[in-house]
Amino acid sequence: MQHTVSKIVTLSGVGLHSGAETVLNINPASASSGLVFVRVDVADKDNIVPAKWNHVVDTRLCTVVGNKDGVTVGTIEHLMAALAACGVDNAVIELDGPEVPIMDGSAEPFIEAILDVGLKAQAAPRRGIKILKEVSVRDGDKIVTLKPGIGSRYQIEIDFPHPEIGRQSAQIDMFSGDFINQIAEARTFGFLHEVNALRAMGLALGGSLENAIVLDTDSVMNPEGLRCPNEFARHKVLDAVGDLYIAGGPIVGQFEASKPGHNMNNLVLRELFSQPDAWAFVDLYMDHVPEVDLPVMSCASETSVLKVAVRA
Ligand SMILES: [Zn+2]
Repeated sequence: MQHTVSKIVTLSGVGLHSGAETVLNINPASASSGLVFVRVDVADKDNIVPAKWNHVVDTRLCTVVGNKDGVTVGTIEHLMAALAACGVDNAVIELDGPEVPIMDGSAEPFIEAILDVGLKAQAAPRRGIKILKEVSVRDGDKIVTLKPGIGSRYQIEIDFPHPEIGRQSAQIDMFSGDFINQIAEARTFGFLHEVNALRAMGLALGGSLENAIVLDTDSVMNPEGLRCPNEFARHKVLDAVGDLYIAGGPIVGQFEASKPGHNMNNLVLRELFSQPDAWAFVDLYMDHVPEVDLPVMSCASETSVLKVAVRA
């Protein structure tokens, strides 16, 4: 079954890049209407921006969607990951500014707010996007691949020449329900020298140790430290889940990546949808409604068991 939120979910906070304070309302929406942003502060132009892969207009610092009038919504990826984790298929997401609030830099505050309100089942089958043929995009040593496979599996490896990061990996199966205790709390991260350069360009204006892990040349600057030793790789999984959810439904298959980013995540979807024989819509038959009481993130890295039935 498809799901929407049972009532309006309201969150507010600062945008990571714009520094703008915005209020976000996630409203119930009809079956098969998908995820759509409405910029309620824009009156003189088209203010509707679909949260779809083919509306992505910028991926340099975050994922930005836009419409033909140039109206945009930035930093959608953590909210999209939360909607994926909660199984929300349809919502009208009202926002009174240019950027989704960053909250604590993870997906957890969005998930908590959505589950506090609860979901409403809708009389239509949930639609997934089944990968039928391997597709890849590559940029130097960065590679992102979608492959046929069971479940909705994300596997990512990163390698940063920093003593706190180095080579690390993380994986999840979205159909296991483990996103919430394995990935949801992993925060975005940045390097102090980059933050200073971005600020000089009028970006990262809302960034702070309250909403991002910040690294100086050899250490994590946040006094509370990391939530998991591989929080960085886990956050890259979170970003990929959010960036792939705007395909229009859950991916049925495997996402494998080495050193991915928002650009590669969007390019692999564009490559997939350019090949009609590489994918197909499938109806999904599963009922996973996450627990309302959110667990603390488990740093154990066991691979989750697949618990989904997919009828092609
Ligand atoms: Zn992120």
